[in-house]
Amino acid sequence: MTDYTLTDETEAYLSEVRPMLIDGAWIAGADDGKIDCENPSTGAVFAQVYTGTREDAAAAISAARRSFDEGVWRNKTPAERAKILWRLADLIEEHAAVLSELEVLDGGKLHSAAKHGEVPMAAESFRYYAGWVTKLEGKTAAISSAGGAPFHCYTEHEPIGVAGMILPWNGPLVMAAWKLAPALAAGCSCVVKPAELTCLSTLYLGDLMQKAGIPGGVVNIVTGSGRVVGAAIAESPLVDKLSFTGSTHTGKNLLDAAKGNLKKLTLELGGKSPAIVLEDCDLDKTVAGVASGVFSGAGQVCVAGSRAYVARSIYPIFLEKLKQHVQGIKVGAGFDPDSQMGPLISETQLSSVLNFVRGAVNEGAVVATGGERLRCEGHFMTPAVIIDVNDTMKICREEVFGPVLVVQPFDDLSTVIKQANDSEYGLAASVWTENVGKAHSVIKQLRAGISWVNCHGLPDMAMPFGGFKQSGWGREGGLEGLLQYCETRSTLVNLG
Ligand code: ADP
Repeated sequence: MTDYTLTDETEAYLSEVRPMLIDGAWIAGADDGKIDCENPSTGAVFAQVYTGTREDAAAAISAARRSFDEGVWRNKTPAERAKILWRLADLIEEHAAVLSELEVLDGGKLHSAAKHGEVPMAAESFRYYAGWVTKLEGKTAAISSAGGAPFHCYTEHEPIGVAGMILPWNGPLVMAAWKLAPALAAGCSCVVKPAELTCLSTLYLGDLMQKAGIPGGVVNIVTGSGRVVGAAIAESPLVDKLSFTGSTHTGKNLLDAAKGNLKKLTLELGGKSPAIVLEDCDLDKTVAGVASGVFSGAGQVCVAGSRAYVARSIYPIFLEKLKQHVQGIKVGAGFDPDSQMGPLISETQLSSVLNFVRGAVNEGAVVATGGERLRCEGHFMTPAVIIDVNDTMKICREEVFGPVLVVQPFDDLSTVIKQANDSEYGLAASVWTENVGKAHSVIKQLRAGISWVNCHGLPDMAMPFGGFKQSGWGREGGLEGLLQYCETRSTLVNLG
């Protein structure tokens, strides 16, 4: 840990157990129910939040329901709602120092990544959707069924109702923003449950939402476990829509929970995304890009490019350069300005990732570099490159959610496309080549929701984000992301 000094505002924020936001008020939970917030860089507890109960979840859900039914948010003019979302984006920027410190302390982010990536991205998410609020237009439809009689048919987008949001720990602030921005733009009221491991930036965002002028009850934030608070939101008949980002396993459980009132689901789940490196790529840029595509966020990113397929003719040189590059990645605490890769989120996550590496070796794979726990406080490991694998190995099939890259050579494009598609997931992919035609042709044959050429992992709110196959349902971002929080009403008017 470096001798970084937290801002006074962050120190003050962390000096008390952070309460939950329910119906416009900050509510403390029971004294004997608290979650420790652990700093992944040190393993030390630095703050606490309350463990919400089913009753807390129920109160938050009723508040959201009431605020929606009374129309305190959805009935504001689009211009008013846009202005408030825009103000929220400004407030996020004004409070960027605190928010980025919370992302480092709670989520194990690198400080530079939080300051220059996560926090501005969260602000931009609200600005992007603030822009849509006044432009969410329906259509008129040409009607034939009335035999030419004068009828007028039009559609409108209505907010879907109360939106429940269950967040993951790997991008606490950004994931909250990606869900709240379109939901609020659409006019929904919301109940948010952050991941147990990373509640603080979402709670802080709640403060900023109040300051921005979002009325009480419109956004409620309940901290607590998935089994209790998450399940209560997923099951509630008062919740119309559920947006979840997390593991495919939990996503599948939510299907059952949500079926009672057939709530609409958006699911952003796992991935095992390929990076396909063609022989004519710009080698040095590709090595750095493929490495960054999997090791950013210590690999705890759903779109991580964790399977690299490299044209055999350049495989030896690619591997050599990759090893050198990866060995040069400085692993360290989030506040150390020299760190290039931070810790894993928890001891459990670190053990799970190290087990994947051990399992791969037991199946006959070879660790080309890395894959070792650092002997220091915190949950650190060196970024791993695994070779001599085959597609049946667990390390090639399952999502590791850690800094582990498997690299294989390939001989021809049609085979590598089959290999890339041979996965239950279909979240993302990248192709590395200087040949634009080839890039497009390969991308078109990949079963992936998000594709990058000569880069990997770069998100943008304007770019719909989500997966094919078991990587999920629906998209976040863009107009598509906004429409996930809307219902379409069609109206036919008899003009005769
Ligand atoms: P991880 O296992 O890495 O924590 P999950 O997908 O289980 O990933 O967690 C993502 C989010 O889902 C967290 O906010 C967690 O609390 C929540 N969650 C976990 N299990 C359930 C569940 N049964 N019902 C609702 N939410 C859940």
